[in-house]
Amino acid sequence: MTIPGQLNPSPRLLLGPGPSDAHPRVLSVMTTPLLGHLDPQFIEIMSETQEMLRQVFQTKNALTFPVSATGTAGMETCLVNLLEPGDKAVVGTIGYFGNRMVDIAGRTGADVTVLERPWGQVFEPDMIRDAVKRVKPKVLALVHAETSTGAMQPLEEIGAICRETGTLLVADCVTSLGCIPVKPDEWGIDAAFSCSQKGLSCPPGMAPVTFSERAVAALKARKTKVQSWYLDLTTIMGYWGGDRAYHHTAPITMVYAIREGLRLVLEEGLEARYARHVRNHLALKAGLTALGLAYTADPNHQLPQLNAVRLPDGVDDAAGRKRLLTEFGIEVGGGLGDLKGKAWRIGIMGQNSRPGCVYQVLTAVEQVLK
Ligand code: PLP
Repeated sequence: MTIPGQLNPSPRLLLGPGPSDAHPRVLSVMTTPLLGHLDPQFIEIMSETQEMLRQVFQTKNALTFPVSATGTAGMETCLVNLLEPGDKAVVGTIGYFGNRMVDIAGRTGADVTVLERPWGQVFEPDMIRDAVKRVKPKVLALVHAETSTGAMQPLEEIGAICRETGTLLVADCVTSLGCIPVKPDEWGIDAAFSCSQKGLSCPPGMAPVTFSERAVAALKARKTKVQSWYLDLTTIMGYWGGDRAYHHTAPITMVYAIREGLRLVLEEGLEARYARHVRNHLALKAGLTALGLAYTADPNHQLPQLNAVRLPDGVDDAAGRKRLLTEFGIEVGGGLGDLKGKAWRIGIMGQNSRPGCVYQVLTAVEQVLK
């Protein structure tokens, strides 16, 4: 076999559903020499990372840390730790990622009730209240920012509904953290998970999670072992909790990366960051609308960071995206599930939520649609 040449990827602007471009400062800290995963200096870095993560999650939850894997591992961590065989769960799906939670919850042996909304729509609080009162589940799981449709599921009222039946609320915040407000303590979310590669402007590879005291109590009251060894919080807590006892070898470089990503978020300030995402979304939306493209999500619940638009009749999805990539160096996402071949998903997340990205993608999309 001939040895492949030195790595030399073409320059890209990642304006799809993720990964988004990593911030240059994040890439720069990733060239920092390694420390051992139990080195006192690394342990200090872990503590700093956890403290910053609490601030970005706007929570006081002690059990807050980045899982060493991508967003799906965060999803799995929340569901496999809180559900045991025979437990009741309600999973709301408003698109592709809700369906993934249905699958994972089912694999735990839980008795899963699926609530569905048409793609692009979200649940009204009363729909959730009815289901929770009827089923009285241990866990209700919802997607906060549904990346397949660009819809934002409001969660503000859902925690209080869950309290009425002692239900734990799990929220998929993979596409929301660092882009729009996520407030587990204020909204009564018991377990939330996210990723590193979107609103935090890092490469994929870490899944921030946070668990409330109620969730930790439910974990401690389990009758059976957690099905996953790697994601078992009862043992991971020994590493990311107080003792820093070996569990697995932390991906040192990714911890450096997420630490820098979190520093960037806090330097900017949460409110300023949310406002920036809205500002750039409005500019992008004005441009896309002027090009005759309609959004797929309910306009009252549109995510600023993920803009999914229907393709006009006659536009070849794959050919169009190929031109965007090869002629303009821009990646946008195609449609998933019900929207496959019918929509483009334009992500302006984290550091990519800026006017330059908006203008570039609008110019390119206009050329390709001509
Ligand atoms: N949930 C949502 C809403 C997502 O958008 C994604 C990925 O884009 C995931 C879960 C899965 O995350 P990952 O692909 O990082 O495993």
